[in-house]
Parts: sequence; structure tokens; C-alpha cells
Amino acid sequence: MKKRTLLHEGKAKKVYLTEDNDLVIQEFKDDATAFNNKKKGTIADKGVVNNAVSCKLFGLLEAHGVKTHLVEKLSGRDMLCRRLDIIKVEVVVRNIAAGSLVKRYGFTEGTVLENPIVEFYLKNDDLDDPLMNESHAVALGVASYEELAVLKERAEAINIVLREFFAQRKLKLVDFKLEFGRHHGEILLGDEISPDTCRFWDLETNEKMDKDRFRFDLGGVEDAYSEVQRRVLD
Ligand code: UDP
Repeated sequence: MKKRTLLHEGKAKKVYLTEDNDLVIQEFKDDATAFNNKKKGTIADKGVVNNAVSCKLFGLLEAHGVKTHLVEKLSGRDMLCRRLDIIKVEVVVRNIAAGSLVKRYGFTEGTVLENPIVEFYLKNDDLDDPLMNESHAVALGVASYEELAVLKERAEAINIVLREFFAQRKLKLVDFKLEFGRHHGEILLGDEISPDTCRFWDLETNEKMDKDRFRFDLGGVEDAYSEVQRRVLD
């Protein structure tokens, strides 16, 4: 399968059309952004790591009955995917308090949440992806109540599979973001699952092993990404 016209270029990926109208190729870049584009940089080989990690995790989820857009890994940076009509909702699942949860609600970072929190954010860079509830999403016309219920249920099921998988690899899955899309009447998991879109802390040391190293200039960014890749692929 070959790349044709560039359909979309995002912050971390390019999406190309292919000769099959139902399939696209996601190309993972090394470009890194944080704080809604206010901080920019590159992380060497990030695209290769995020493609490998995402393909592995989508395969794992498929094996647990979660439908994803993954068709196959084509090369280091390229993933062949089913073409989605992306639902403009970012679904965040949290197991441990960090990031905006700490800032917004005053949780102490590291507090274990007895029940995982699921949040919806509007996917809109111009508005800084605001937090929203179901009523906002329906009023904005981005999804129906039925679809939002499916997203929440899928996100919770995905969390159970991923949390266990990462625990076996000595990583705490602190929180993560998912995107879904419509494909021939079905809702599929799309986008990526990687150190760009998840927070991982080492199970023993609580060391941050994700994009927070880039966000907060903690150093060792590339090493953290490749260590996550090693633990995921081993
Ligand atoms: N996240 C993401 N893309 C976004 C916003 C958040 O992938 O546009 C991920 C982020 O990496 C973290 C989780 O979603 O794993 C929760 O992020 P949070 O709301 O704490 O926001 P942040 O601290 O990233 O601003």
C-alpha cells in the first residue's frame, strides 16, 4: 500500500490517503509539542517508538475484543489504518492523579483514584481542548448521547486491559487519552497510544517515563521513550 495525497498533518502525525478509499497511512513524526503548541521541539526517533508501541497495544486490544483502526504496521514510522470519521472528543482515563486533574481540582499528585475517572474534552486547538460533559458534546453536535456512552464504556474496558499489561511490565498507567472514529456504522479506536498520550511511572521508583519529561524539561526524554518501547515489546 502506497501513500497518496496528504489528507491531514497534525502535531505528531501525517495522514495520507491510499489507493483504497477505506484505508489511510498514519506517519509518525519526531515533532513534539506541549501545552497546546506553546512548547515545540523534537524527540529523536519518537515516531518510530510511538508507531511500534501503538501497533503492539492496538493488537493487544484487538485480542481482547476492542475494535481499532489498525490494519498493519507497514514500516518504522507508518501504520496502515481504517479511515475514520474522527469524533471530536478526546477521552481521558485516569487511575492516579496527575497533570490537569491536580491543577483543576487540587488533588495531590500520585493519589490513587479508587474509581478511575473518565473525562471528555472537546478536540479543538483554537479553544485549548476544553473539558466538557455529555450535554456540551451533544449541544455542539460532536457526538450523540448513545455514542458518548459507548466511548465511556470502551475507555473503561481499555483501561482494564492496559493497566494489567503495563503492571506486568513494571509500569503504572497513570492516565491516558483516547480518540475514536466512525467507520461504516461502527465506532473504532483510532489515533495512537504511546508515551505522547499516556503517563507512565516506573512501578518501583515512580520515575516519569513519558512526555512529561519533555513538558517539564526533566531530561532523558529519548531514553524514557525507548525504555517504554523495550518493556512493551519484550
Ligand atoms: N493528553 C493527550 N493529548 C492532549 C491532552 C492530554 O494525549 O491534548 C494525555 C496526556 O498525555 C495525559 C492525559 O491525556 O496522559 C491527561 O492529560 P491532562 O488532562 O492531565 O493534561 P496535560 O497535563 O497533558 O495538559
